[in-house]
Amino acid sequence: MDVVIRNASLPDGRRGIDVAIADGKIAAVAAALPARGAQEIDAGGDLLSPPFVDAHFHMDATLSYGLPRVNQSGTLLEGIALWGELKPQLTQEALVERALRYCDWAVARGLLAIRTHVDVCDDRLLAVEALLEVKRRVAPYLDMQLVAFPQDGLLRSPTALANLKRAIGMGVDVVGGIPHFERTMADGAESVRILCEFAAGQGLRVDMHCDESDDPLSRHIETLAYHSHRLGLHGRVAGSHLTSMHSMDNYYVSKLLPLMKEAGVAAIANPLINITLQGRHDSYPKRRGMTRVPELMAAGIDVAFGHDCVMDPWYSLGSGDMLEVAHMGLHVAQMTGQDAMRACYAAVTEAPARILGLHGYGIAAGCHADLVLLDAASPVEAIRLRAARRLVMRRGKVVAESPRAVARLSLPGRPEQADFRL
Ligand SMILES: [Zn+2]
Repeated sequence: MDVVIRNASLPDGRRGIDVAIADGKIAAVAAALPARGAQEIDAGGDLLSPPFVDAHFHMDATLSYGLPRVNQSGTLLEGIALWGELKPQLTQEALVERALRYCDWAVARGLLAIRTHVDVCDDRLLAVEALLEVKRRVAPYLDMQLVAFPQDGLLRSPTALANLKRAIGMGVDVVGGIPHFERTMADGAESVRILCEFAAGQGLRVDMHCDESDDPLSRHIETLAYHSHRLGLHGRVAGSHLTSMHSMDNYYVSKLLPLMKEAGVAAIANPLINITLQGRHDSYPKRRGMTRVPELMAAGIDVAFGHDCVMDPWYSLGSGDMLEVAHMGLHVAQMTGQDAMRACYAAVTEAPARILGLHGYGIAAGCHADLVLLDAASPVEAIRLRAARRLVMRRGKVVAESPRAVARLSLPGRPEQADFRL
């Protein structure tokens, strides 16, 4: 064996587990494996997890905070306007540089797969070229999936559809959309039909920004589920944000969730961004705006939490830490039960892995040896502590390390070191 990791806890609750790795893949997972590794790693009972997966990100905008100016109102619409001001000034070199820098952060945090939207409404498709280049360069470390995203509206922007098709032809993986930003509800529904038919014809996945609005009558998710079912796209379609669902009529939602389940449509909430951008027109009481995460999960629908933004026109914070995302999601959704918190951990690991269609993801013989060893004993503790990533492994090689968090004390009668674990 190349590597054997000893005495690990796994996200499913198993403890005292050894994981043997050969040729970049997991060869065996069991207690007290007899095989010796050329390298032996003592997990010391810590949580060994498959890597974090971000199902929703904007790598073309990341780390551009303050360019050309700061979003004063903090709203989604000023963010979109600001991005429109920045777009003509973008250069490919700067885009590549910022994206690579973010990927470094991601790998250090154990985030090894990212689905990023890329704006296709700039006729030069500069960002598409830049992110395809980044995808090639980071492939040894990180799986990137690109979504062709018509930020200015598929029908509202005259060249968006042609550009989106060009982007797919250049190698972009997934068909995106933004129906709630079209001029009318009817145009929004029409954009969903066009995009789903195009994706079905090309054999591609779909991931739309859908109903990112506080308007309870923004119901494009219903249309997305309808066309997904009609075209046989089950398991290949995700609705991102779905914030209007927060404000919808309960009776209507009781009809909608089974339609999503029937169509195999997944939901991607973005807790940091939803809690920041939604409810901006409210006085008090002020809505949270995040979609109905526990209800979607209870209906058997795959739900992921995405990061969405890090230091860009919409959001001035973030660091590529999916535990921070899960932590916020848990609070906003009030998912404080033990099972609910574990589901929030799954929403930044296995659920987005399914949504992206990642192959060889997980901790089982035959999976890629892509692993994160956390300074925590369980998924719940990992979220509580936003635990240090002691070690990040990609295809069996260590690609990042962080020290354990300890305080060095000298109080009489107290241990010299204190950690944050119970
Ligand atoms: Zn987004």
